Amino acid sequence: MSKRKILVTSALPYANGSIHLGHLVEYIQTDIWVRFQKMRGHEVYYVCADDTHGTPIMLRAEKEGITPEALIARVHSEHLGDFNGFHIQFDNYYSTHSAETRHFSEDIYAKLKTAGLITVRSIEQLYDPVKNMFLPDRFVKGECPKCSAKDQYGDSCEVCGAAYTPTELKNPYSAVSGAKPISKSSEHYFFNLSDSRCVDFLRRWACEGDHLQPEAANKMREWVGEVGENKLSDWDISRDAPYFGFEIPDAPGKYFYVWLDAPVGYMGSFKNLCEREKIQFDKFWQPQSETELYHFIGKDILYFHALFWPAMLQNAGYRTPTKIFAHGFLTVNGEKMSKSRGTFITAESYLRQSLNPEWLRYYYAAKLNSTLEDIDLNLEDFVARVNSDLVGKFINIASRCAGFISKRFEGGLVDGTQYQILQQMVNERFAAWRPDVIEHAFEAREYSAAIRQIMKFADEANEMIHQLAPWEIAKNPDRNDDLQRTCSLGVQLFYLLSRYLKPILPATAQQIEAFLNCAPLTWPQLRDDQPVSDLLLPAGHKINTYQHLMIRIDTKQIDALIAANTQSLAPTVQDAPIKHAEKQQHAVAPLAEIISIDDFSKIDLRIAKIVNAEHVPGAEKLLKLTLDIGGEQRVVFAGIKSAYDPQLLKGRLTVMVANLAPRQMKFGLSEGMVLAAGGGNPGELFILSPDTGAQPGMRVK
Ligand SMILES: [Zn+2]
Repeated sequence: MSKRKILVTSALPYANGSIHLGHLVEYIQTDIWVRFQKMRGHEVYYVCADDTHGTPIMLRAEKEGITPEALIARVHSEHLGDFNGFHIQFDNYYSTHSAETRHFSEDIYAKLKTAGLITVRSIEQLYDPVKNMFLPDRFVKGECPKCSAKDQYGDSCEVCGAAYTPTELKNPYSAVSGAKPISKSSEHYFFNLSDSRCVDFLRRWACEGDHLQPEAANKMREWVGEVGENKLSDWDISRDAPYFGFEIPDAPGKYFYVWLDAPVGYMGSFKNLCEREKIQFDKFWQPQSETELYHFIGKDILYFHALFWPAMLQNAGYRTPTKIFAHGFLTVNGEKMSKSRGTFITAESYLRQSLNPEWLRYYYAAKLNSTLEDIDLNLEDFVARVNSDLVGKFINIASRCAGFISKRFEGGLVDGTQYQILQQMVNERFAAWRPDVIEHAFEAREYSAAIRQIMKFADEANEMIHQLAPWEIAKNPDRNDDLQRTCSLGVQLFYLLSRYLKPILPATAQQIEAFLNCAPLTWPQLRDDQPVSDLLLPAGHKINTYQHLMIRIDTKQIDALIAANTQSLAPTVQDAPIKHAEKQQHAVAPLAEIISIDDFSKIDLRIAKIVNAEHVPGAEKLLKLTLDIGGEQRVVFAGIKSAYDPQLLKGRLTVMVANLAPRQMKFGLSEGMVLAAGGGNPGELFILSPDTGAQPGMRVK
């Protein structure tokens, strides 16, 4: 087999939020594919980066009172921590805010300009006169022109689903300052996608070539249009200052739109790796390169990757992608991930609940195929499947056989004639255990098919162990040879299954290598004339004592995960800092007198879960809260009615004073107090929320 040179990318996560289980579908899908190719001995590089530019990053940094550079540095380390936690093994995880990405962005722009594919046009756009900035669609809000729902974004209505332009909104306001936007014109730079050089190329590349999945190519035919018709519009690639990004070299005050430099970030990250590892960058990016380039992406960003990106590369004198692999979205329990249902699960919270990341890798693999279909994480099925397949079928083979090998044979697998009998058994009974089907399935990203095949093998192995029943043989001291051979066979089959599963379970595979006392597991490769027994450990191989390799998932862990991700934050409260930004000059009360640590420690503050919240008939300011502080429930009357809708408080975590003397009130006994900030004006009240992971009953000190 000849050695392939392969460069693989996953889409760049935006440096403005946490990695969640939806993101992980793609990174796990890519990582499995990369590990599989590396195990086969190919030269593979897997690069990615944070996507760091644009208005949302600029505004978020401003809101936090830090520089965009500080924000993206912090998010970068958070993202990288999450990826490491799920064993996503990038060869380089970089940032688009880098000298390399700037270089290639400017280079591509200059080449497109020389080719006459850049034009400048004046366009009208909504402008925030207070903040002195043009407003991206998502930063204009107002009433939906169709259904009049309030507080809708400038591009679409979340209530009726209508799509429109920001100028169509009724009573528009800037989500940044609250000001009424005005219409203002400005010069923008366009990449001439409607030029026949782009259209003809894209028709060939995206519609007729085999660079895209069939469903994606169909989409392209729709977008590009038939020969003779041109449906593509030129692409606006500039944004006006203030903007966090790269300034366009010959256009002061104009910046590259974040979507121009995001895919260029693939080149930037790879260039950075090449410098470090002495890899020849040009070999991978020159036209007619014999290397392979694959982009794994979500189906929502197909437009950018299958139209703009190849057209840019082609016309700037670089190679175009070999293939683009798009995948569907993640649903949880059959529905869109939801913060209020607790199914918007972050990578960090999953790891923090001590859930094994390989459980999720396995489950996603069992669901993934090469199409754009969505995949569903059904939490009940997740528990059942992992427990039955990984623990019940796979790990079980080792745990049932390895003990006898250690206890009775000092770790030695059979040797000599017994080994020959074992080989013969394998070649007769397990002749189908060849890598072919699994290998093709992995290569084609049909992981669910690969898993079906591997689990079929595992079933066969378990059936054999069940029939031969080593625990029965062990009772008869005259059958030592039989016992050693049967258990050796189990261990050998376990070894082979582990090689097939290693791309999905890299950490367990490492433990298995230690347990089996063998070299790092490689991909099983067999010529047609070779028997399956050639894939086994050698005769007389010694293994180490079996230690637990994987435990079962407890449903309680999933319940805790959902609880940790349940947020019922009232939207009005979340939006408050933006809407009321202009009246933030509130008076700051003078500080209270100094107390000692002993004084402070008298107050027993606890994390409390609001299990129920309701209006109190006749009470003007109070809500009745039922709080769970770790097994014990308290009823507290809290004066927060003006700021919170009780429905939206249910399920939320907050902080309470748990050792305050109970107080008899007109409406009942109040057994503690919840803490809140503000209170000067009606509605300006803010209860506290602990960070993700805090549990009811934990003491706050
Ligand atoms: Zn609407």
